[in-house]
Amino acid sequence: MRKQTAIGALVLVGIMGISLRAEVIRARSPIHLPDILGYQTLKCDFHIHTVFSDGGVWPTIRAEEAWREGLDAIAITDHIEYQPHKDDIPTNHSRSFEIAKGTGDTLALTVIRGSEVTRKMPPGHINAIFLKTNPPLDTPEWRDALRIAAEQGAFIFWNHPGWTGQQADGLARWYPEHTELLEKGLIHGIEVVNDRDYYPEVHRWALEKNLTMMGNSDVHDPVSMGFDTDHGERRAITLVFATANTPEAIKEALVAHRTAVLHKDLLIGRQEYLEPIFKASVKIMNPLVTVKGKGSAYVQIANTSDVDFQLVGTNRLDEVIVSARPILRGGKTVLLMIQGRSPETTGKKSFDLKYTVTNLKVTPEDGLQVTIPVEVTFVPTK
Ligand SMILES: [Zn+2]
Ligand SMILES: [Zn+2]
Repeated sequence: MRKQTAIGALVLVGIMGISLRAEVIRARSPIHLPDILGYQTLKCDFHIHTVFSDGGVWPTIRAEEAWREGLDAIAITDHIEYQPHKDDIPTNHSRSFEIAKGTGDTLALTVIRGSEVTRKMPPGHINAIFLKTNPPLDTPEWRDALRIAAEQGAFIFWNHPGWTGQQADGLARWYPEHTELLEKGLIHGIEVVNDRDYYPEVHRWALEKNLTMMGNSDVHDPVSMGFDTDHGERRAITLVFATANTPEAIKEALVAHRTAVLHKDLLIGRQEYLEPIFKASVKIMNPLVTVKGKGSAYVQIANTSDVDFQLVGTNRLDEVIVSARPILRGGKTVLLMIQGRSPETTGKKSFDLKYTVTNLKVTPEDGLQVTIPVEVTFVPTK
């Protein structure tokens, strides 16, 4: 009888197609950053390799690992001129995009067609994304390759300008060829961050020459081999402030320079975007506090983003001592101490606490300036 029940259960499992094995959890870890200025804040990586050039990963995996890491869009950018696996995988410049897009479509991840034009410096390595077709870029002259990309409506950016493989000292140099590209409208953006490297000089060029700031992984191996993703370490990404998560809307935002770069604990970008990100992330829970004599009060400040904001105080106040270097931890509410300087202070006073957010870089040298308004009621103790 018992045996029959067991067999019946097995038959049922078979009919219903239920697996008795433990489910493998395929989960996405969202990156929390606020939407700003009426735009969606999209998390993107526009520089990714697969086995179709010198990467070690099949294109389907690129789409799911990006989805798992909370990304919204990726570009597949295999090298045009460098295919070390071609004895095993024949040259097909379009194929890695086509395969990755199939997986991306099932995950609502936008996959963008790109190629890396891979030449010696100058002009170095240059990505063209939003291509219509890749093979015409396979042509002897790099000027022809970039002209063809531009004729297809591509967004073109200079990769890793300070890469030690081409600049032994790791310093980026601007060559006459880059001026030529800029003047012909054949370069629209530049990697301020590539992989683990931030190039301050490139950050400066992006501001001076009005180029779109990009931060990309240039990943070749599985992302989890290069980054401790299990413990929250992330690849560099480009934040794109776009009207929608579509290739057209992302391209429009890139052309309009509406980006920032998230790289380790740094957020790099124009002040017009970093300021609203800070303001939309931070909430002062109790801006009104009472200080008794030389006692302390605490202002609670919540940060709903995933970025720790590292603050350094820039003003000295006569009536109070305030936390000089608070860190507004991502996803936490932290205490900002306000301590009275004298037992005799009385009345109500408003303060604009001025801080520099040192890890929100609006120039290579300058952090974002912010103000935290508080109102203190002083109760004298003698
Ligand atoms: Zn490269
Ligand atoms: Zn690359």
